[in-house]
Amino acid sequence: MKKVAVVFNGGTISMKVDPRVQAAVPSLSGEEIMAMVTGIEKYAEIESHNFSNVPSPHVTPLDMMDLSKYIKDLLKRDDIVGVVVTHGTDSLEETAYLLDLTIKSEKPVVVTGAMRSSSELGYDGPANLSASICTAISDEARGKGVLVCMNGELNSASEVTKANSMSLSAFQSPSFGPVGIVDNNQVIFYRESLNRQYINTENIETKVSLVKCVSGMDSKFIDFCITEGDRGIVIEGMGRGNVPPAMVESIRTAVDKGMAVVLVSRCYEGRVLDTYGYTGGGKNLRNLGVIFGDNLPGQKARIKLMLALAHTDNLGEVKEIFEKGLYLV
Ligand code: ASP
Repeated sequence: MKKVAVVFNGGTISMKVDPRVQAAVPSLSGEEIMAMVTGIEKYAEIESHNFSNVPSPHVTPLDMMDLSKYIKDLLKRDDIVGVVVTHGTDSLEETAYLLDLTIKSEKPVVVTGAMRSSSELGYDGPANLSASICTAISDEARGKGVLVCMNGELNSASEVTKANSMSLSAFQSPSFGPVGIVDNNQVIFYRESLNRQYINTENIETKVSLVKCVSGMDSKFIDFCITEGDRGIVIEGMGRGNVPPAMVESIRTAVDKGMAVVLVSRCYEGRVLDTYGYTGGGKNLRNLGVIFGDNLPGQKARIKLMLALAHTDNLGEVKEIFEKGLYLV
């Protein structure tokens, strides 16, 4: 029987409604959740690990790095074929992407959660866990990088985002769709995600901020990041990767000071490119030395920049981490 380590890490999957506050709070242990995944013993031997029991808005990038180290140690063990991680869905995509960028293993690592707590009708935790465990034991899932398994769908951690605040199929990969499904406990892949990357670092740079552009925006948030001594800024620009003109001079200052400035789009789908030559257009920003972040949502680009800046001080290398194979570096 194959052995899977299930690392419990809080989120709605471990919550029930507290009658005093009349809202969901973390309360179930890993063992209590596993007891609801009936019949799983016919498929795999489970080793439960209670890593934490927090709502995912409480999870920090430093916590994510601790989790990454914890999973790497489990993956080193010969008796474990794969690891399943439970996580609150709010920041799940950030943790899953960080794990994908920092773990180099052929063994499956599957991140899952629940959109409904155990107090609600239609609690989806046990079904998501059993599908994730089936994925962790499947030979097909080996070498696929970190996968997110929710609602019978498998998405690559490098592509997925939380696209809906309430639906059971909240996790979607914009433009590309899922890589596979788990149907009747069978894992089927329909395509490969080709943009897998590994960043070799044990640390993470926490002085990185995310700034979202809106119409009429000025430079005060960028100026604040500069004064705070940030090493990097991710800018969620408009459309193809353009910003209001009043932000441009501060972006120039940030780049001149040696900060890594990464541009992504606030659009749900599509990537940034230097299409526009007006003030604040992508061409203008690229000429200043801004790095392009392809199709990543801002919150995932921030995780990548935090790891890239922990890995290297060399901005040319940071640019290569973001742009290699995607833009002319
Ligand atoms: N707010 C919850 C959390 O992220 C949502 C969830 O787990 O689905 O912890």
